Amino acid sequence: MEVSTDGIVLKARPYGERDMILTLLTPEHGRITVLARSVGKNKKQSVLYAQNFVFSHFVLFKGKGMYVVNSADVHEAFYGLRQDLSRLALAQYFVDVAAKSGAETDAAALCSLLLNSLYLLSSTDLDERLIKLVYETKYCIIEGVFPEVTCARCGKQPAKWSFRDGFCCEECGNGYPITQGMISALRHISQNEGKKAYLFSMNDDSVHYLSKLLSDYVSFVTDTDFLSLEYYRSLRITL
Ligand SMILES: [Zn+2]
Repeated sequence: MEVSTDGIVLKARPYGERDMILTLLTPEHGRITVLARSVGKNKKQSVLYAQNFVFSHFVLFKGKGMYVVNSADVHEAFYGLRQDLSRLALAQYFVDVAAKSGAETDAAALCSLLLNSLYLLSSTDLDERLIKLVYETKYCIIEGVFPEVTCARCGKQPAKWSFRDGFCCEECGNGYPITQGMISALRHISQNEGKKAYLFSMNDDSVHYLSKLLSDYVSFVTDTDFLSLEYYRSLRITL
């Protein structure tokens, strides 16, 4: 059976001497694992589609076992990422997070979020920290694990965020303190689609604080400590 689909490489690992096993995120089939033959180290010219982040159109053959790549046409390789260590590390974190998405995820929405975020990281000078905030927030919304940004008990303006219980106002519960500026940013992100979601501003301290909080929340909901995130943070400190 032949399957024709767009896909972004989330993970690529060697398999035998010259083959690779790719984890793809596809809009129609969700996350799938495919075997890419003869793309290993000896054939440098043909391996572009088998690298992380690369977005291609695939023709796959499904036999008894896993999908096998028949052909692949690269749509976008996000070359810009390779020129900036910090943005490259962030892109790696984005695909690692996408690889944790659930079986019920709206894969088309996640593909579009990932592509938009990689494009902005690779081809624009938009503040990468804002791209990260949007990616993490939207990821949690798509996964159905982002709470409504009002007090979960009384509906008032929230002032705290509890990872277990959601947002709450000053009176109704406990959690990490959040400011009105951060609430506005989270509402802006959740209420806007496409590139518009990334267009907002916040002061440096708030960006730093909210970025840490959202990463911790993504770790919490995926039950994962992301090595790529630790690497990204170590770069931000030394750069
Ligand atoms: Zn309340």
